[in-house]
Amino acid sequence: PYDGPSKEEVLALRKKYLSPSLFLHFKRPVMIVEGKQQYLFDERGRRFLDAFAGIVTVSVGHCHPEVVAATNAQAGLLQHTTTIYLNHQIAEYAKELADRMPGDLKVVYFVNSGSEANDMALMLARAYTGNYDIIALRNAYHGLSGDTMGLCGQHTWKQPVPQGFGVRHALNPDPYRGPFGNDGKRYAEDVADVIRGATSGRVAGFIAETIQGVGGATPLADGYLPEVYRTVREAGGICIADEVQTGFGRTGDAYWGFQLQGVQPDIVTMAKGIGNGLPLAAVVTTPAVAEALTKRIHFNTFGGNPMCSAGGRAVLRVIDRERIQQRCADVGSHLLGRLRALQSKHSIIGDVRGKGLMVGVELVKDRGTKEPATAELNEAFESMKDAGVLMGKGGLHGNVFRVKPPMCFSREDADFLVDVMDHALTKL
Ligand code: PMP
Repeated sequence: PYDGPSKEEVLALRKKYLSPSLFLHFKRPVMIVEGKQQYLFDERGRRFLDAFAGIVTVSVGHCHPEVVAATNAQAGLLQHTTTIYLNHQIAEYAKELADRMPGDLKVVYFVNSGSEANDMALMLARAYTGNYDIIALRNAYHGLSGDTMGLCGQHTWKQPVPQGFGVRHALNPDPYRGPFGNDGKRYAEDVADVIRGATSGRVAGFIAETIQGVGGATPLADGYLPEVYRTVREAGGICIADEVQTGFGRTGDAYWGFQLQGVQPDIVTMAKGIGNGLPLAAVVTTPAVAEALTKRIHFNTFGGNPMCSAGGRAVLRVIDRERIQQRCADVGSHLLGRLRALQSKHSIIGDVRGKGLMVGVELVKDRGTKEPATAELNEAFESMKDAGVLMGKGGLHGNVFRVKPPMCFSREDADFLVDVMDHALTKL
């Protein structure tokens, strides 16, 4: 059992010694000291169902024994030297990751976070094309480094500092709130318009998630990416898929989110779920694009270190062996079905959306005006926590429940979650 400092003591330490810009998820904070599979445990041993997976990061389950064993074994053998020497872990890992990528996406750079991966993707796009402008989407989230903060399309995350030079934000193809409904082609025209109106006509690239994570599990309207990829390539740019949340089978129908729209990106960035909690991220691109960085050398101290590589390799094996993608499809469609039924009972649920275990439930005060029901969400969010379910939230207005649990989530977990949500919404 846990015998460390109390919750109050930890809160006091945090307030005194950690950045005041950090935020807590709940008004009445939760302290977590242990995790197993899809469950988290607080300092008193109380169990919670985890529907947010450390912000969509714990992919195959908290402390999956195979990942822990692989990481620990490597930690006892060799933790670190950097890539100045040969080591088999990073090399074999790169091959195993590349084997899971379609087409010519065969060159891997390992880094340590999603922000770093997207920084590198921007650098590659600019170095390869010789162009500067990058198109991103309003409502996007791609990280909080200087460059990636500029890619974000939500004021919430933007410090009032210079950022994102050359980034142009296009209309978000949001099927629920956007002006053109689910007609991706019409939103794609805005990308052509942005290129004509805000750039020299030549761009370095385009970046998007196929289902926006932080943006509230918002899928891009049908048919959007094929049109946009064509437009961007005609303007000399290349296409980047941010798979930090949507990758590794989470959407059920596909291993990679971009496959849902039938496109082939030039650069794919991944983080979070790739390491099941280890600080690990990657950029995968084509040999031609990778060649652009050989004008100088490139280096990252921790990227692809033996420990994280060993853990990352175990994650890939577990996803295959436990048929995680299929599980996301099965459990996800059950969850979506139950949530849609709940929507017909509670008028506050404006939209239920997503795929697999990447699901959003948007609360509105009025289905006609779609006025965000943010206060109501916060109340339900807190009472679901009290009932033992830790939900995610998101969207620009903070009125969207995000259900993105560890991918070992079961139908029974989904049923429990929906029952608890039903109770919380009824209480409002
Ligand atoms: N891209 C997406 C889609 C993300 O959700 C996030 C993190 N929420 C990032 C990039 C940035 O990752 P990190 O916090 O590891 O830098």
